Amino acid sequence: MCVPTLSFAEARACVLERVKAHAGLPVETEVGLAEAAGRVLARAVRADRDYPALARSVRDGFAVRAVDVPAALRVAGEVRAGESYACEVGPGEAVEIMTGAPIPRGADAVVMVEHVTREGGQVYIDRAAKAGQFVNPQGSEARRGQLLLSPGQRLDFSHVALLATVGITRVPVYAPAPVAILATGDEIVEPDQTPEDFQIRNSNVYSLSAQVARAGGCPRILPVARDEFGDTRSKIERGLEAGLLLLSGGVSEGKYDLVETVLADLGAEFYFDRVLIQPGQPLVFGRVRDKFFFGLPGNPAATMVTFEIFARAAVEILAGQTETALPLMRAKLTRDFRHKMGLTRFLPARLSEDGAELTPIPWQGSGDVPALARANAFLVAGADREEWKAGEWMRVLLK
Ligand code: AMP
Ligand code: MG
Repeated sequence: MCVPTLSFAEARACVLERVKAHAGLPVETEVGLAEAAGRVLARAVRADRDYPALARSVRDGFAVRAVDVPAALRVAGEVRAGESYACEVGPGEAVEIMTGAPIPRGADAVVMVEHVTREGGQVYIDRAAKAGQFVNPQGSEARRGQLLLSPGQRLDFSHVALLATVGITRVPVYAPAPVAILATGDEIVEPDQTPEDFQIRNSNVYSLSAQVARAGGCPRILPVARDEFGDTRSKIERGLEAGLLLLSGGVSEGKYDLVETVLADLGAEFYFDRVLIQPGQPLVFGRVRDKFFFGLPGNPAATMVTFEIFARAAVEILAGQTETALPLMRAKLTRDFRHKMGLTRFLPARLSEDGAELTPIPWQGSGDVPALARANAFLVAGADREEWKAGEWMRVLLK
């Protein structure tokens, strides 16, 4: 079996390409507006009318004919938001208007209330006005029938506002993609148990479950597989009932690391089994029985990081998202940083509140869950550079 070792960028491109090539459309369902945020839209959304439906005023003031001013004008009436003005504004006339109210026929500009002097039935306007000023023209935000949202978009709060605006109360979304989560390891006990000193509580399935849910998947935690061929094989087979299988542990070179052996026995195709990153060098990605799987390394930091940088995109695509993103921003280091070249490193760090400054967090390696919990970001050290000085820009991935 010859399975390639890839760089970070190659491995990410491989995941995106493979999963996009095979992902079918998820099952469609409907949710109410209040539950729609975070879900993936299943149908196109179009404007049901022009937005705004009529030209509207964006200020409190007076609707006028721009050619009339500066001048003293007769106040012919008033129009409030939620009303329309029945008559036409004639020469020498102004209509008092409130923000959001439709511009009366005949008028083509609004003069702000701050710029007029009112005396009885007249207003004095001492400055010129441009046609169109403080007027939001009909259809300027969207034309009736215009495409506003495309299927495959993950909905955020502004999308929910748009759905409400166009009157969609039952929102067509995709059902979350089922993702099986299988931890392996003889040393693993459940979190409600008191471990012996040589045992470790199972944290990976819970971090993964939270990460899967955040990515739009539906996590299904399986019982831990023992480091034994038969048990690992039967649990992997169960995991393959879901759309995607995430394994933790058992992918290193140790005598009891059986995940790859079992997957190979099931006829798996492996796209890579090592990536030049830290944490998370032994990392397996492939396909078996028409399902994708990731064999994530068991060390908790490695499990969390490799999910974020590789598996999250797979979950998002399988959940129906047409686009994924791994936004690597930049911030200035608060202290010098060195690492050994050759691996792209993702290390726990704190980003200042304004996002400008990045401070590495001391950690004891991939098992250091407390350090990860203190972090709000990962600093990203490229494989081809050894040293960054305090004050230099460094890439950063939000946690
Ligand atoms: P492995 O990749 O199987 O060699 O596991 C590496 C290390 O990760 C183990 O020695 C454990 O300390 C830790 N580990 C493995 N699985 C889990 C898990 N489910 N939860 C927490 N830590 C784990
Ligand atoms: Mg193990």
